[in-house]
Amino acid sequence: MSDHTASYYAATANDDTRHPELEGEISADVCVIGGGFTGISSALHLAEKGYDVVLIEGERVGWGASGRNGGQICTAFNKSMGDIEKLVGKEGADAMWAVEIAAKDMIRERVEGHKIDCDLTWGYLHAATKPSHMGHINETRDEWARYGYTDTAVYDKLQLEERLASKIYHGALWEGNAGHIHTLNYALGLARAAKEAGVRFFEDSHVTKIDKGPSPRVSTAKGIVKAKFVVAAGNAYLGKLLPYLYHRVMPVGSFVLATKPLGEDRAHSLIRDDDCVCSSDNIVDYYRLSKDGRMLFGGRANYTGYEPADLFSYMRPRMLKVFPQLADAQLDYCWGGNLAITLDRLPHVGSIDGNIFFAHGFSGHGLALTGICGKLIAEAIAGTAEQFDVMAKIRHQPFPGGPIRTPILALGMLYYRLRDLLS
Ligand SMILES: Cc1cc2nc3c(=O)[nH]c(=O)nc-3n(C[C@H](O)[C@H](O)[C@H](O)COP(=O)(O)OP(=O)(O)OC[C@H]3O[C@@H](n4cnc5c(N)ncnc54)[C@H](O)[C@@H]3O)c2cc1C
Repeated sequence: MSDHTASYYAATANDDTRHPELEGEISADVCVIGGGFTGISSALHLAEKGYDVVLIEGERVGWGASGRNGGQICTAFNKSMGDIEKLVGKEGADAMWAVEIAAKDMIRERVEGHKIDCDLTWGYLHAATKPSHMGHINETRDEWARYGYTDTAVYDKLQLEERLASKIYHGALWEGNAGHIHTLNYALGLARAAKEAGVRFFEDSHVTKIDKGPSPRVSTAKGIVKAKFVVAAGNAYLGKLLPYLYHRVMPVGSFVLATKPLGEDRAHSLIRDDDCVCSSDNIVDYYRLSKDGRMLFGGRANYTGYEPADLFSYMRPRMLKVFPQLADAQLDYCWGGNLAITLDRLPHVGSIDGNIFFAHGFSGHGLALTGICGKLIAEAIAGTAEQFDVMAKIRHQPFPGGPIRTPILALGMLYYRLRDLLS
């Protein structure tokens, strides 16, 4: 039986539900492949609409990025609204903004509605690592204000240092409608809600084949699901199961280090108001406190597919660069996982052959966007799909490079790393 990757999240998971392996042939209205936020959210919304749903997970529910990420609920997309306007026009950008507002509202509603115990906390700092980044911070504040989002404040260096005990930043944008969450407990809570709504879950059931057609058949080693619709929600872990999707996202490794609990006073001397923090670099540092007072410090980006042998030594220097005062902190966990990026850094949603729906490539903004994309997939399947259509209209290009695409991307990201160092 597969288990969660060893992490702070796995060690503090509050639900140990196991689901059976798929065996034999079963039927459903919808077969969802993947038990992360995208899959669980699609399944939950579909079940609430009265569909008979089966969810197939190759490992354990929450095993992928959804159970291992930095827990940061980000605003908007990995692209400015101005860039989005250029892609889909002002009306389309308004619809995309509405999607992002709904994405965060949905987290609140799900946590409250299903009583999910997952340490949901609001408050987010975008910290400028270069003086020149303050211009972008001001532009972002103004851009969001034009979209009606004014729960923000710009801090200069000294104002920021009252809230964040690091000397390396030059100021920050604070926002109140973004924050952080115990991501695995949120995933497990959503799965519990989906199960209560009637979704049948199977774990340890890796999908090896999809036979397309009017009644697709989804095969695992020991079973088959016959369905009217399929939802492909494997994101960075889907591999080549659907070649069209494989060519439109790139898996990227990211890593998180957790100290041992620092004690309430010491923890809050580092981040006074419990905000989560993201740096303004191209390769971002993202960090926050856990409920039990650990520093959860995430960052780096690995495009090669190989995980560094000693993750602690890989991540600790990053944390000490920001917080040298943590040199004596004991470390407890360090883990990695894969997220998926698209070439234009916007989520890729759509359908194949009219009955295989997908959403992937959230490009580091998946915690909030997966939930809403799951809802949009459910609505598209049910036939009411306006917002889904706006997002599906964005034309995503395959990554260039064919079989050697990973070295090409690694080279491209080396360029960004150099830019962070030199700019
Ligand atoms: C270290 C790290 C830090 C991150 N930090 C943040 C953050 O702070 N904020 C943020 O917004 N986003 C963050 N992300 C990204 C975010 O976690 C993802 O965008 C999001 O969780 C994607 O959810 P998903 O359901 O699409 O994919 P996943 O959660 O990866 O789930 C996909 C599931 O599909 C299953 N699967 C794949 N193929 C098959 C198959 N053939 N058969 C059966 N099952 C299959 C996998 O086993 C997996 O469980 C981070 C990601 C990582 C790895």
